[in-house]
Amino acid sequence: MRCILLIFASMLLSVTIFGQEKAKAVAKIQPTYQDEIRKLSKKKRVKKAFQLIEAQRAKTLADHILLTEIEAPPFKEEKRAAQFVKMIKEIGVDSIWIDEVGNVLALRKGKKRGRVVALDAHLDTVFPEGTDVKVKMRGDTLYAPGAADDTRGLAMVLRVLQVMNEAKIETESDVLFVGSVGEEGLGDLRGVKHIFSEKGTKIDSWIAIDGGAIGRVNNQGLGSHRYRVTFKGPGGHSWGAFGLANPHHALGSAMHYFAQAADAFTAYGPKTSYNVGVISGGTSINSVPFSSTMEIDMRSVSPARLDSMDVILKNAVDQALITQNEMRRLGAPLTVDFVKIGDRPSGELSEDLPIIQRAMACTALMGKRPQLTRGSTNSNIPISMGIPAVTIGRGGVGRNAHSLHEWWLDVEGYKSTQMALILLLAEAKISK
Ligand SMILES: [Zn+2]
Repeated sequence: MRCILLIFASMLLSVTIFGQEKAKAVAKIQPTYQDEIRKLSKKKRVKKAFQLIEAQRAKTLADHILLTEIEAPPFKEEKRAAQFVKMIKEIGVDSIWIDEVGNVLALRKGKKRGRVVALDAHLDTVFPEGTDVKVKMRGDTLYAPGAADDTRGLAMVLRVLQVMNEAKIETESDVLFVGSVGEEGLGDLRGVKHIFSEKGTKIDSWIAIDGGAIGRVNNQGLGSHRYRVTFKGPGGHSWGAFGLANPHHALGSAMHYFAQAADAFTAYGPKTSYNVGVISGGTSINSVPFSSTMEIDMRSVSPARLDSMDVILKNAVDQALITQNEMRRLGAPLTVDFVKIGDRPSGELSEDLPIIQRAMACTALMGKRPQLTRGSTNSNIPISMGIPAVTIGRGGVGRNAHSLHEWWLDVEGYKSTQMALILLLAEAKISK
């Protein structure tokens, strides 16, 4: 009876890739779970399914390329969703439907109805309509926006379903295969939020496949709040209407006040970040603008600190509005719209929870070291609700996610599919 103690040297670094943060220090896999996963991997049908995953590598790659080349911009995932439905139907599943917000949900019934285990990858990419999503192969490397994040995940979901069918694996729990919408950016997890709302389906266990190598065991949700702040005024000629309150000047002041206070607040305590990522507005150099907008992203491991950041931002905006209106020599005063455009909850599941232990044991089975991570993924929602959930990596090697130079290389990519399968089976239980 031996515990594996894993110590990672990456504590000095805090690099964020694929919405994940590297990496937590010590993870302990309990022997019970190691035994459970080892036994499961020795079952005849599981072995068969593992072989099929390896044998069908070319098919997985073909599915991956086909789906990557169907663009799926934020809020416009329909075309890719339709293709995903078609592919699932061809493989075979008990029922499949698209819900009110566009998620693809495919149910494979278990022998004992009642519990539902979900395997998810997200349909959407960050890239706008019209982006060239044609896959370019350079050697074995697959170049295309969205190839790694998260289209590889979708191809893995398809393969897991197919080999379960072909190896005739029956589970006790129902298994729900999910292609979710709105994971990225201003999508604000709308797909998964819907699934876990009262309008959604009951889910007892949630496994998301998203960016990152095999080894990622994401048990912590990084929370974020996002705002769009717009100062508005009458606008006019820069000389003729000089003296009007100027929305850009107010925005500049707001940013200054915010950065000053936020810098002081975030210098100490649990990690909290802030970023004005977009500013826009104005028509010409010689016009007082009628509107000025900024978009702000704030993240924290602590929900309370995010709430404090809200207050800091609101105070900065109010102060800037007052200051700019006091400078006004003519015309109507400025107004401001303060709109929350993103809210991702944070949270953390204990590493002792069965799903987390199983994910770590499955990683070890694949010969890799599990790393507990914090990230901003679909699992944020179930994690924040205390529902067992984990995000695992899509495997292989990938870089430059969210850029036009994104690539993915199939280095033992089949292993992450095998891992997704065995974790799913551990959660859903193979029926005798
Ligand atoms: Zn992703």
